[in-house]
Amino acid sequence: MYDYIIIGAGSAGCVLAHHLSEDPSVKVLLIEAGPRDWHPFIHMPAGLAKLVNKKGVNWDYNTLAEPQLNHRSLWWPRGKVLGGSSSINAMCYIRGVSGDYDDWAAAGAEGWQWDAVLPYFKRAEGNARGADAFHGADGPLSVSDLSHTNPLSHAFLEAAQQYGLARNPDFNGAQQQGVGFYQVTLRDRARCSTSVAYLKPAQTRANLTVHTGALVNRITFAKGGGAPRADGVTYSMRGRALHQPAAREVILCGGAINSPQALMLSGIGPADALRRQRIEVVHDLPGVGRNLQDHLDICTLFHATQRVSYDRVSDARIAFDYYLRGRRGPGGSNLAEAGGFLRSRYAPDDRADIQFHFVPAMLDDHGRNRLPGDGYTLHACFLRPRSRGQIVLASNRAGDKPRIEANYLSDPEGFDLKMMLECAKISRDVLGQRAFDPYRGTPIYPARNDLDDADLIEFIRAKAESVYHPIGTCRMGVDAEAVVDPQLRVRGVEGLRVVDASVMPTLPGGNTNAPTIMIAERAADLIRGRA
Ligand SMILES: Cc1cc2nc3c(=O)[nH]c(=O)nc-3n(C[C@H](O)[C@H](O)[C@H](O)COP(=O)(O)OP(=O)(O)OC[C@H]3O[C@@H](n4cnc5c(N)ncnc54)[C@H](O)[C@@H]3O)c2cc1C
Repeated sequence: MYDYIIIGAGSAGCVLAHHLSEDPSVKVLLIEAGPRDWHPFIHMPAGLAKLVNKKGVNWDYNTLAEPQLNHRSLWWPRGKVLGGSSSINAMCYIRGVSGDYDDWAAAGAEGWQWDAVLPYFKRAEGNARGADAFHGADGPLSVSDLSHTNPLSHAFLEAAQQYGLARNPDFNGAQQQGVGFYQVTLRDRARCSTSVAYLKPAQTRANLTVHTGALVNRITFAKGGGAPRADGVTYSMRGRALHQPAAREVILCGGAINSPQALMLSGIGPADALRRQRIEVVHDLPGVGRNLQDHLDICTLFHATQRVSYDRVSDARIAFDYYLRGRRGPGGSNLAEAGGFLRSRYAPDDRADIQFHFVPAMLDDHGRNRLPGDGYTLHACFLRPRSRGQIVLASNRAGDKPRIEANYLSDPEGFDLKMMLECAKISRDVLGQRAFDPYRGTPIYPARNDLDDADLIEFIRAKAESVYHPIGTCRMGVDAEAVVDPQLRVRGVEGLRVVDASVMPTLPGGNTNAPTIMIAERAADLIRGRA
């Protein structure tokens, strides 16, 4: 009998497996649908370009047709492997800013304000630059500067400064705004996923068992006199249907799409929707699957007149240099090398509301559409979108993908669209600076530099994509629609928590891996009665 069963070995699940199994008196089972993270492209930073098409380590989701985006279905990769999405992501280490967490607490996520979460960011972090008021140096998650950067990324930083943005060497320090190279989750020039950082050091512990290739179908409940109590999980592994009881808690770490799906399949969610799928209602919780948020992203692409980008470097050469020559060369690049944060004229407060990721290659359709020649891409996204979507069951089978209604650009005031237009205009202005004169070829997307607002809006509807940060579908809070309470316990039942990106009430101003790891660090203390 295991004390804790953790569903999903992703960014959050590996952190929990590590900390809960620190106590030798408890037994922990970690169940992961995907395989072990043996593939070399997972560990070579630039391998992420190859991982996009590796179906074996990717849930490979698509949204439904998006009404505001010309009815396009947008691609949502998610990691399905030890480390979860931290094994296939771009490794940018970003936390957001203090106001993001103070907003969470003000909205009912008591105990998650900045001064309470900063110690957990620091506890997780092993920053190669050393410790200071904002950073930890001794944590398991290695954070370091890139070993390889491209001349085009330097041109971007130059151009952004010519546009008027300040240079910032540390987006997670006293000031987020400005441009610079990202610090990344790398150790010894290789990816430091949560599998590498947290799971590997714990895997030899006798009290931790890891099952891979094991899909959890549902959480089971004991129904006595009081609230239903989670008492185990059913899962399928190598063609066998298994049930495993849990003595203390089941902890769901399936991510922003799979966690609400697993709750609903287990009878926890909006009662009407469950009945439509012939699922017995264990607890009517209308918020499950709702409050879906994501960063929508618009890419501006140019051809380069010099052969400097990563477009034509052969994959074989990259891997050869990287693995046989001491992890040297472009294989050490996370591709999204440089970027930054800026406060637009529409920002309601003093926080940056736009983020850039600069890629020294032509990244059309997430890199799935390889264009001929050399070029570069500037990604820009609005950091605090107001549109909300939802995850809805498509069937009552765990093996079927749920329906993703992202509802991008659907806020009634049209603010998200206004901000995306601002993103596209500022991107054009930055790439038009003289630092790019030695490189600038013909524009690709948009196809002309002189588009008016109406044309740019059409461009956004035709080309905007996800920058991979879905959150919020098991939102924490204290109101009737909240799915988990501030201790991350599923409301209305016992013995069940959700710990992953789905509990975030709103998007932080930046990427979501470090915030997810912080959530799991604090959750471990909550579960062990230490917070
Ligand atoms: C391509 C890409 C690039 C990104 N780039 C960055 C970046 O540069 N920086 C950054 O900070 N963030 C980035 N992100 C986002 C970040 O990685 C995620 O927000 C974060 O990893 C989410 O963590 P999670 O624990 O919520 O979910 P995940 O890490 O996705 O983990 C969920 C795990 O649960 C498993 N699982 C799900 N359902 C079941 C089930 N029923 N049974 C068993 N196992 C199950 C999954 O297989 C998976 O391993 C990126 C994401 C992607 C996809």
